[in-house]
Amino acid sequence: MKAENQNKQLRVLYVEDSRVDLELVKNILEEDFDLNLVSVEDKAGYLQTLENSKEFDLILSDYNLPDFNAIEALRIANQWVSDIPFICISGTIGEEKAVDLLKDGAVDYVLKDRMGRLVPSIKRALKGAEEKRNLELAQKKLRERNQELLIAKQKAEESDRLKSVFLSNMSHEIRTPLNGILGFSELLIQATDSLKKNKYVSTIQDSCEQLMHIIDSIVDISIIEADQVQIHKENVEIGKVFTYVASVLQPEFRKKGVLLSQGRTSENLTYLITDERKLIQIFINLIRNSLKFTQQGYVEYGFQESELGVVFYVEDTGIGIAPENQKMIFERFRQVDEGNTRTFGGAGLGLAISKSFVTKMGGEIWLESTPGEGSTFYFSIPLD
Ligand code: ADP
Repeated sequence: MKAENQNKQLRVLYVEDSRVDLELVKNILEEDFDLNLVSVEDKAGYLQTLENSKEFDLILSDYNLPDFNAIEALRIANQWVSDIPFICISGTIGEEKAVDLLKDGAVDYVLKDRMGRLVPSIKRALKGAEEKRNLELAQKKLRERNQELLIAKQKAEESDRLKSVFLSNMSHEIRTPLNGILGFSELLIQATDSLKKNKYVSTIQDSCEQLMHIIDSIVDISIIEADQVQIHKENVEIGKVFTYVASVLQPEFRKKGVLLSQGRTSENLTYLITDERKLIQIFINLIRNSLKFTQQGYVEYGFQESELGVVFYVEDTGIGIAPENQKMIFERFRQVDEGNTRTFGGAGLGLAISKSFVTKMGGEIWLESTPGEGSTFYFSIPLD
């Protein structure tokens, strides 16, 4: 009999003022359990013991005690250790008190002249307590799972909403250059003036380039989503990257009347081991954004060394970004100016793509901005 319960100690707190009864109960329990019994004989001892440790599997209590009784002991237990089963062991106390005990949550009431009931009663109580614990654990897990599902649902709804905004932006973004191409080709066919012809061709070329950017962004974001981004490291001459980026973007700056200039660099650092194409793409994304959100003033780019490696920057005198939007604009499909109220074009992909590339290259991307004054975007590339 003892063997089945021996693998686990039974930690009992027993409130009893009679030494004889204490010994009797102890002997009975030792027959069946690997017993670890703490006994107390009055209220002070009971409170003190519970204060020191709540690690009991069971509380047993005589009914009549010197300065309190089992009902009071039970109520204290209910407040402090409500999950520990409580059994009253007593001489006859009358039906009323016994019912009170059970009403207050005692698991059982065992008469001292029927001690044969004690062990089965304890086993039932322990089983019940374990089932209650398991149930509570299952309920807790269920609540956590529900919470997770709720968050996942909210995320899915948000992502669904963002994708709808993205699709409507996208169709606008694609339609605008396509209309440009169609409309100006029509004009080109009819035009006779060679000056006008040149202007139409140049508009068609701009529209084609816009379309190319959109398609490139879509391809990039799908590569990122499939986690297929690959970094090809090589020895990159920073000055050459700057020259190339400036040559690609200068015409767009000239057209808008915004100045593009190279700022701080370091004479000691001219080469960097990194992915040149991705570095160029990040730069072009950031500088194009700066141009898009800057009506007058300048956009300056450069780099400096820091403990993060090389920190590149793109600074503008544009509209700036409110602090509450500064984090979310790096998420895909996110724009400060969403939906129908959009004043600036774009698909909300550029910063998400840049962030993903920078992270893959081992760096970080962040920004500082004051609405109405401008923004500076930074990204770091570690020095290998
Ligand atoms: P988009 O194609 O819409 O420009 P991005 O991911 O590149 O997508 O940028 C997300 C949003 O971040 C932009 O729509 C804009 O609201 C904001 N943003 C990005 N760069 C700047 C900047 N230099 N100045 C002000 N706002 C910016």
